[in-house]
Amino acid sequence: MNDIFTIRLGFMKSFLIKAETGYVLIDAGYPNKEQKLWNFLKKKKIAPEEIKLVIVTHGHFDHFGSLAKIIEKTNAKIIVHENDQEMLRTGKSGEIKLHTKWGKILEKLMGKRMRKISVTPIMPDIAINDNYSLEEHGINGKILHTPGHTNGSISVVLNSKIAFIGDLTHGFPLRSKTDFPFVAENLEDVFQSWEKLLDDGVELFYQSHGKEFRKELLLKRLQKRK
Ligand SMILES: [Zn+2]
Repeated sequence: MNDIFTIRLGFMKSFLIKAETGYVLIDAGYPNKEQKLWNFLKKKKIAPEEIKLVIVTHGHFDHFGSLAKIIEKTNAKIIVHENDQEMLRTGKSGEIKLHTKWGKILEKLMGKRMRKISVTPIMPDIAINDNYSLEEHGINGKILHTPGHTNGSISVVLNSKIAFIGDLTHGFPLRSKTDFPFVAENLEDVFQSWEKLLDDGVELFYQSHGKEFRKELLLKRLQKRK
């Protein structure tokens, strides 16, 4: 099984996975959080250049805010889904649709501000449009297109039945209450993407905001839908 490290880069979690040759980083955090990554790597005695690949689960600013700075030092390749690549290229997160009572609160507090946030733009190296094998990057696993939160949301699925799903679920503000994301372009797509991952045999889910959880939670939530 691959070693998995969790690194907080702002109010979210990035994940670092040990591959056969180097490391793969999943998501690149809020803007100006790169120092947190360097500190973590130093502690683990990992050189920045050992990160060979950064997979961006989707084009929201809290997932690629520090990406340009991280690439400057690591020279890693960037993978994103083609539906979200424009967000990286322009540094803008696009339209943000909010759901649930948490979404409504967020909308009042910072909806306008959130839509205006822009971060350093960056060109992705690989824009995928379907399943993508990670074998050539030294990882026994693949990327699946799991739209819903954004149209280009992707999940990294390891063959050990673990998935990194970005914001396909939200575990905060109440961490014990993991549910569908209160930001979502299409909620029906979210549920379909959950089913896709369950059908693929995923048993353990790592989300960007909140604690990891087991498949039973999603199965239960799917039965209730909205
Ligand atoms: Zn997001």
